[in-house]
Amino acid sequence: MAAAWQDVVRNAAAVREAAAVAVDAALLAGVLMRTGEQPHASDVVNYAPFTLLPSAVPWALFEQAYAVQQDFNLLVDAISQNKEFLEKTLASTIKVDDFTARLFRIYMQVLEEGLAQTVFLGINRSDYMFDCGLDGTAALRQIEINTIAASFGGLTSRTADVHRLVLKVLGKTEEASQLLPNNPAKGLASGIAKAWELYGSQRAVVMFLVEDVQRNIFDQRCVENELWNRNIRVVRKRFRDVFEHGSLDASRRLFMDGQEVAVVYYREGYVPQVYNQQNWEARLLLERSRAVKCPDIATQLAGTKKVQQELSRPGTLEKLLPGHPEAIARIRATFAGLYSLDEGEEGDRIAATAIADPDRFVLKPQREGGGNNLYGEELREVLEKIKDSPERTSYILMDKIKPQPALNYLLRAHSPLQVSECISELGIFGVYVRQGQELVLNQAAGHLLRTKAIEHADGGVAAGVAVLDTPYLV
Ligand code: ADP
Ligand code: MG
Repeated sequence: MAAAWQDVVRNAAAVREAAAVAVDAALLAGVLMRTGEQPHASDVVNYAPFTLLPSAVPWALFEQAYAVQQDFNLLVDAISQNKEFLEKTLASTIKVDDFTARLFRIYMQVLEEGLAQTVFLGINRSDYMFDCGLDGTAALRQIEINTIAASFGGLTSRTADVHRLVLKVLGKTEEASQLLPNNPAKGLASGIAKAWELYGSQRAVVMFLVEDVQRNIFDQRCVENELWNRNIRVVRKRFRDVFEHGSLDASRRLFMDGQEVAVVYYREGYVPQVYNQQNWEARLLLERSRAVKCPDIATQLAGTKKVQQELSRPGTLEKLLPGHPEAIARIRATFAGLYSLDEGEEGDRIAATAIADPDRFVLKPQREGGGNNLYGEELREVLEKIKDSPERTSYILMDKIKPQPALNYLLRAHSPLQVSECISELGIFGVYVRQGQELVLNQAAGHLLRTKAIEHADGGVAAGVAVLDTPYLV
């Protein structure tokens, strides 16, 4: 990928000036996070970390990522309705992974009782990196698809303005005008609003299910405010609140303190640490309810790493999306090599290959939220240790994507201004709404570019590794 800003990146005075403008612009635009020191306070906040310069992204790959998003929406929705597929695919995983097993138990329990929910809302984010081939050409490779609590759609709706200003300060007015507008917050809210409307009760609220510690509250507020703009009431509750104040009536309508809930939008609930016994009970209550869950538990399971790995098996997409050969081709074109570590010859073989050549692979457990994957020597050590035990099946292996690094500055509060070699990850937000069997909305809702220094193998913005960025199409 062309290094877009070679002339300015080493000009210390220009960079310092632009960085000062950038930070103030971010604060003005509301690219904010609560601080690590005072994570519960909104009266002491700082800017969310971001790059000084927008990063170059090949326009053909950017377009490819947008073009496949409706297909991925369709696919996730299809998986969430395919009990046989989920059961079969997750059978080995739930034997060894307690968290996935508990989610799966709720899934089965809710199905046995019969679904009260009739309107379905999916908000996902499909993440990609640009794999650099031996001949220097870049290819779009999916890292994963997030089907629960995909974040930064709010803050990223405000970063392009900041980068536009930075480019102008650096004398690049023409380039500034080329940065695309981007408003996932609006797109996500339009999906939530559609689901709320189809639920069909003017008085009912949208409930954001939020964390105990809400450092990223401003990101969520962006979506919330879009809903208030449409005169839809929003409440923010934690699992604990649901346990203490949530109830179902005879037709399984969900009430919080007597107030009916139309939509439950999870920004929490994807890591095991969150769930004590009470929170599991709260989760079950929500899943049993008629309220539109975003996502319902089936869709959360559709986003597991194990499902992703099974999708790459020849023939699987054809079974899940019969009659959609073009969608299947677009989806498959984004897949990296993915490998099952299930017990048996296939797993033995790939485990041995990865132990011999760990730098070719990433070892992934069934976890979300960043910082869980294993690389290099650590991958080798762990795989050596578990290669003959059933524990192996709680992981999958994936080809390691190797993007071409570019120089940039990562602006973080209280950190020195220094140039870093960086790589980027592009996410496309997808939104869909289904009523019964009819898909009434299916769209791409905007994008997110996150960039990190190459020395960090893993981790997102919330984990303090990646920062917000804006694509500059080349
Ligand atoms: P999580 O659910 O924890 O976000 P991801 O699959 O997105 O898990 O991986 C976390 C991070 O690890 C990614 O954001 C990316 O930076 C890095 N990563 C994941 N898979 C690969 C891969 N195949 N090649 C290179 N880096 C990867
Ligand atoms: Mg991820």
